[in-house]
Amino acid sequence: MPADLPYELLRGALEAGVRGVRSKMGVDPDSRVRLPRAGSSWEEVERELAALRDQDTPEAFGRLSLYSLKGSSEVQAVCEKAHRMFFSRNALFAPYLPSVARMQIEVLDMCLGLLNAPSEAAANLTSGGSESLYCAIHAARDWAREHLPGAETPEIVAPYSIHAAFDKGCALMGLRLVRVPLARDYRADIAAMRSSITKNTIMIAASAPCWPFGLYDDIPALAELASSKGLWMHVDACLGGYLAPFAEAVGHPVPPWDFRIAGVTSISADLHKYGFAAKPCSTILWNHADLRRHHYQPITNWPCGLYLSEALLGSRPAGAVASAWAVMHFLGQEGYERLARAHLAVAAKLREGVEQIGPFRTWPSELAVFAFGSDEIDIRRVVAGMTTRGWFMMGNQEPPLVHMTLDAVSEAVLDAFLADLAQVTAEVRSGQATAVADLTYT
Ligand SMILES: *Cc1c(COP(=O)(O)O)cnc(C)c1O
Repeated sequence: MPADLPYELLRGALEAGVRGVRSKMGVDPDSRVRLPRAGSSWEEVERELAALRDQDTPEAFGRLSLYSLKGSSEVQAVCEKAHRMFFSRNALFAPYLPSVARMQIEVLDMCLGLLNAPSEAAANLTSGGSESLYCAIHAARDWAREHLPGAETPEIVAPYSIHAAFDKGCALMGLRLVRVPLARDYRADIAAMRSSITKNTIMIAASAPCWPFGLYDDIPALAELASSKGLWMHVDACLGGYLAPFAEAVGHPVPPWDFRIAGVTSISADLHKYGFAAKPCSTILWNHADLRRHHYQPITNWPCGLYLSEALLGSRPAGAVASAWAVMHFLGQEGYERLARAHLAVAAKLREGVEQIGPFRTWPSELAVFAFGSDEIDIRRVVAGMTTRGWFMMGNQEPPLVHMTLDAVSEAVLDAFLADLAQVTAEVRSGQATAVADLTYT
C-alpha cells in the first residue's frame, strides 16, 4: 500500500465489504448496530455465525490458500484441542499458573535449540511477528542509548523488502527506518546498505527469508558489517524461522541465517506460521540474556505493585501457548521433518506446473513463498480469475507478482490448482477474462 494512501480508503473498503455482507444477509446496511436488548440462544447465535462465515470466499482458507498455515488436519486438530484446554486462561498470569509458565519456558527452550542459540541466549514469547519486531526495535533503541550515544535520531538500515511492521515499529518508537533499494537479484544490496550507515545507525535488519519474494538476504555479510560497526543485527525470520531447521535437516540447501552466524544479535520467528501453532504466537530470541535488560519494562509505581509482562502486550491467550507446546510435542523433530519434505515437494511441483503452463516467470523463492509473474500477460487478471474460482491469492505490486505462502497440501489440491490456473491463463490470453484484481493490499 503506498505510504500516502489515506487511511479512509482502507476504512472505506472495509465498510463497503461490511455493507455488502449486511445487504445480502437482510440487515440494514447503513444502520449502526446496537447491543440487542434480549440475549439469544446459542443455537440462534451459532446459526448466524455459520451464515456469516459462509459469506467468505468458499474454502478461502482451506485449499492451497495458505495464509492460515495448517500443516495437516491432524496438526490442526491437536492445535484446536490444546487451545480449548487452556481457553479460559490468561498467559499474562503465567507467574500464578505453573502450567502456562512451564509450557512457555519449554516452548522457548525448544525454539532456542532449533535456531542454534548459544547457551547464554534467551527468548520471549510474543503475540505475532509484528510484536516480535517491535520488541527488537525497542530493545535495540534502549541498548543504543548506552552503547551508541552518538546516535541522535536512531536509524535502522534495512533492505526495501523488509516487512512493513518495521515502519510501524519505528514510527511508534521514534526511530527512522532507512529502506535501501534492493540489488538486481531482489536481495539486500550489501554495498548500498554499507553506505547507508551513518552516525545515527543503531541496527541493521534483514530477512531470512523476506515476505514479498521469499528470498534470503546475505545474513553472514550483513552480520559482519554490523559487527564491524558495533551495531545491533536483527534477522527477521518470522516467516521461515521454524521451517528452515527442518528443511536443512532433510538435506535441502538453506542459506546461513541463524545464531551460527557470529554477529546476529536477535531473531524474530513465528510459531503461528511454520511452527503450526494457533495464532497469535511468535518468538523473539536474544543472543545474550543480558539484552533483556533493554526489553523488560518492570513497573512498580502504581497501586498494584510490580507489573511485568512477557513482551509488549498484557493479557494474552494461554491457548496459543498450549497449542504451540502441544504441536511441538505431537510432531517432534520427525513430524516437522515429514512436513518439511511434503512442503518442499509442493514447492517443486508448483514450480514445474506453473512453468509448464507457459507465460509465467517463476521466482527463485526459497522455502516458504512461491511467487510468479509474467512479462506476457497481466498477472492481475490471472489473480482475478483464480479468485473467482475460489483460490485465495495475494500479490505484490513491485513488480506485479502472485505471492503464495506454501503449505504441505495434497497432490489433489495441487492438481486442481494447476488445472484452474491453466484455464484462467487461456482465458486471459484469449481476451475472455478481463477482470483485474487489485494487488495493493497485503
Ligand atoms: C508474517 C511476517 C511478519 C509479521 O508477522 P505477523 O505475525 O503478521 O505480525 C514479519 N516479517 C515477516 C518476514 C513475516 O513473514
